Amino acid sequence: MASGTNKRDYYEVLGVSRSASQDEIKKAYRQLALKYHPDRNHEDKHAETLFKEAAEAYAVLSDSEKRAQYDKYGHSLGGSGFHGFQGFENSFTDFSDVIGDLFENFFGGGSSRSHGGKRGRRGSDLEYPVEITLEEAQKGKEYPIEFERAEICERCAGSGADTDSKKISCKTCAGYGEVRISQGFFQVQRTCPDCHGEGEIISKPCKDCHGAGRAKKTRKLSLKIPAGVDDASCLKLGAEGEAGQKGGARGDLYVYIHVKPHALFERSGNDIYLQMKIEMHQAALGTEIEVPVLDGKQMLKIPAGTQPEQTFCLRGKGMPDLRGRSLGDQIVRIKVETPARLSREECELLEQYAALREKSGNKGKSFFERWKK
Ligand SMILES: [Zn+2]
Ligand SMILES: [Zn+2]
Repeated sequence: MASGTNKRDYYEVLGVSRSASQDEIKKAYRQLALKYHPDRNHEDKHAETLFKEAAEAYAVLSDSEKRAQYDKYGHSLGGSGFHGFQGFENSFTDFSDVIGDLFENFFGGGSSRSHGGKRGRRGSDLEYPVEITLEEAQKGKEYPIEFERAEICERCAGSGADTDSKKISCKTCAGYGEVRISQGFFQVQRTCPDCHGEGEIISKPCKDCHGAGRAKKTRKLSLKIPAGVDDASCLKLGAEGEAGQKGGARGDLYVYIHVKPHALFERSGNDIYLQMKIEMHQAALGTEIEVPVLDGKQMLKIPAGTQPEQTFCLRGKGMPDLRGRSLGDQIVRIKVETPARLSREECELLEQYAALREKSGNKGKSFFERWKK
C-alpha cells in the first residue's frame, strides 16, 4: 500500500484540531472506531474503509514521535513514512486498548459475529444514545429506556404465512432455493430471486407482517449505567437488537453514553477539578471554606500563606474506577482575588499594612533592588 499524497489528513480523519491533546485524539478515535467497527457494520465496505482510516490516523497521532514527523512532513514522507497497512496493523492492539474493555467488560456479551445459518439472517444492531450528568456518572444509574425493534410476528410465529396459507414449492428453483446462472464458461449458484432461498413460496402472506415474519414493537429496558462511566463510552447489550429472520440470531444493542459537561467540575481521568476563588486576606491569614463536591459539599482548610494556583486534594472525592475499587480525588485549585474596590477604612488599613511591611524590611525595596540581590 503506497503512502499516497491523495490521502486524507489524519487530523481531518479524526475530526480534531492540529493542537488536539492526546486525550482528545483518543476520544475522537474511540468514537469513530465504535461507529465503524466491522462487528457492527456487517460487510459494509465504506465503514471498513473509514475504520481503517481512523485506525491509521490514530496509530500515528497517538505516538508523539510519529505525530511530530507527520506534523512536519505530512503524508509525503515516501519510503520511511506512514504506510497505511503497517499503521493499521499496529492499531489493532491500540484499538483493543482503547475500546476492547468497553465491548467486553460491561455485559460479558460474546462476539456479535454470530450470523445465522444459510437461511437465518441475523437481526440488525441498534443504537441508543443516553445523556447523563457527571453526578449520575459518579454514582451509576438505573436508566429506563424505550425503543422500537423488530420482533418475531406473533400472528405467524415468524413464518410470514397466514393460518390458511399453503407452502408451495418454488417453481423457479424447483425447491432448491438456489438457481444456476451461466456466466461465460462458468456456472454460478445464486440465491433464488423468487423464494429468497426458501425453496417454498407462501400462498397467503400473514396479515400482520405482510409476509415479513417480523413486526416493530416497543421494548422497555432498565439500563444499569456503571458508576465511574466516562463520556463517549459505549455499553453493549448482547442480543437486545432486532430479532433475526428465519431463526437467525438477534442483533445487539449499543448504548452510547454522553456525560454532559458540568458547570463547576472538570473531569480528568478519575480526578475531578474545581476552581475556588478566595480573597487576598483569606489566602494570607488562612481560613476554612465550603467547597462543592460531586455528592454535596465539604469544608476545606486554607492554611495561612496560601498562594494563587495552589491546589488542595480531597481524597476519594473523584470518580470511582470502573474496574477496581479505587476512587479518584477532587483537586481544588485556588484563585486569589484582589479586591477591586476598597472602602476608605479598608484603604487606610491596607496603607497601614504597607507601611508596616516597609518598616520590617519585607517589601520596602523596589522590585529592581530586590532583583539585583
Ligand atoms: Zn406475521
Ligand atoms: Zn425459489
